Amino acid sequence: MPDPAQPYDVIIIGQGAAAYGAALYSARYQMKTLVIGDEFGGETATGSTIENYPGYSHIDGFDLMLKMKEQVQALEVEILDDRVNELAQEEGCFNLKAYDGEYRSTAVILAVGRERRKLGLPLEQDLMGKGVSYCSTCDAPLYKDQSVAVVGGGDAAVKGSVLLAKYAKEVYLIYRKAKLTRPEPINLSLLEKSPNVVQLLDTNVKGLVGNGKLERLELDRPYMDQSDLKVDGIFIEIGADPRNQLATKLGAMINDKGEIMVSKLMETTITGLFAGGDVTDASGELKQTITSTAQGVIAATSAYKYVSEHGNACQVHAAGYSLD
Ligand SMILES: Cc1cc2nc3c(=O)[nH]c(=O)nc-3n(C[C@H](O)[C@H](O)[C@H](O)COP(=O)(O)OP(=O)(O)OC[C@H]3O[C@@H](n4cnc5c(N)ncnc54)[C@H](O)[C@@H]3O)c2cc1C
Repeated sequence: MPDPAQPYDVIIIGQGAAAYGAALYSARYQMKTLVIGDEFGGETATGSTIENYPGYSHIDGFDLMLKMKEQVQALEVEILDDRVNELAQEEGCFNLKAYDGEYRSTAVILAVGRERRKLGLPLEQDLMGKGVSYCSTCDAPLYKDQSVAVVGGGDAAVKGSVLLAKYAKEVYLIYRKAKLTRPEPINLSLLEKSPNVVQLLDTNVKGLVGNGKLERLELDRPYMDQSDLKVDGIFIEIGADPRNQLATKLGAMINDKGEIMVSKLMETTITGLFAGGDVTDASGELKQTITSTAQGVIAATSAYKYVSEHGNACQVHAAGYSLD
């Protein structure tokens, strides 16, 4: 159990790819590091099979995150399963309040990811990674020659449908309104040119059916006289909200998507506060495990430089070797 009286050089908030990327480098820079995150592995751990992380042609997301954690644990980084509810900065020292304790550090790295918007249907959580996905870029290749549905009416849903159409046998794009008006025209025209995409407009998914694996959807408006639609997968592309609350409370700048704005060195607009991964604006729409991990690494490197220069803010112990 960490000693709350002892300040850290850096506290990393999160336990996903960005957090573990940051922790690996923080440890190697010999900074006194605490990782504190409420759900081990973040989205990657729930994402089922990962086929686009270099070094692994095929790995379960949970196992990949476990490997990241073990690598960091081997460097004796402290890791806590807890949620940070408050983050404040006083005279250059950060104070964090979690459910089980209070902690202080010179630098903080926010790696808290995004909250996927859900349909809110029973079984949605249980079938996540078993037919229910929130990321077509990630999971499309897993549905080769199968039937899938995409829910949503924005650019992500349309682009997801076009991508899925390259793998799946048939793609049903389900949207609650009568017309797709929000996507970029170029994406709409690509959609029209995808012969295996069927648009089910004015339609809502009102239920998911499956036992350990998604089998079919219940629609509120019948298609081909049937309210049941047999599919192997459903992609819920109705948006995601960056968890920006801790950053906004400190006054950090966020963009119109709610993402924390960072420099290419993963600095936020608050001195000593760094951020990486899906919560930031760093990689545009390509929010992936590999991009998040890399951003965590860069954030740790910037934090190290900062701690080396401002190491006395919370009377930290000496930092490790020099970046020069
Ligand atoms: C279904 C699905 C499949 C995917 N498949 C792939 C794939 O195949 N390949 C790929 O590259 N990417 C994939 N992704 C995307 C990838 O998972 C994300 O880009 C990546 O997880 C982002 O990492 P992150 O560390 O930024 O955030 P996250 O993984 O979301 O981690 C955020 C962490 O912060 C913690 N946290 C949040 N708030 C607090 C708080 N206040 N206090 C403490 N902890 C907090 C969370 O518990 C979590 O541990 C997939 C995503 C989904 C949803």
